[in-house]
Amino acid sequence: MDLGTRLITGEDGQPFPFDPGAFFLELLLTGGPEGEQWELLRGTSDLASWLVDSRLALTAPIEAEDVRIRPAELRAIKHLRDTLWTVTQVIAAGEEPNEDELETINAAAESSLRPRVALDTGVCEWATPITGTQVLGTAAREAIDVIGGDRIDRLRECEAEDCGLLFLDTSRPGNRRWCSMQRCGNRNKVKAYRERQAQD
Ligand SMILES: [Zn+2]
Repeated sequence: MDLGTRLITGEDGQPFPFDPGAFFLELLLTGGPEGEQWELLRGTSDLASWLVDSRLALTAPIEAEDVRIRPAELRAIKHLRDTLWTVTQVIAAGEEPNEDELETINAAAESSLRPRVALDTGVCEWATPITGTQVLGTAAREAIDVIGGDRIDRLRECEAEDCGLLFLDTSRPGNRRWCSMQRCGNRNKVKAYRERQAQD
């Protein structure tokens, strides 16, 4: 599986690959305001190991032991995550986000992961330790870049009525409709086929 593409398990128990298109949207897959049963980040070490496979590792590898998250930072990351859920859903629905929620995102943008050129190998690495505040800020800065820029039109919710996954459409033509072709795209094809059959 490519970094940043996550394997999601549907309600029918079938796993499918999902590329959220941005780190701040990938973070939404760890849980949200819906409740504890979906929470993947129960402790600080859960976030450290989740980051290893995140799309931040596309820039440079992340080792869990280089990540230092304090409990208060984890709480701030979850609070930002809940806010990003609401704000992204509202924008994807074509509505205006709430100002207090935008301020929560702005306030989180203080710091970010720092890329550096490794002196021994000459390739890019993350400066360590990677802190919770840096993870928080990286997600917030990316969200600000999308929400405050031209790509805001590319924030989408999967068109399947019973899905709700949010993604940034990074396709060149900008016509992505589904969380995953293997999942909702395919279900829609089957549905359209059945509807045509019923009309004949
Ligand atoms: Zn979907």
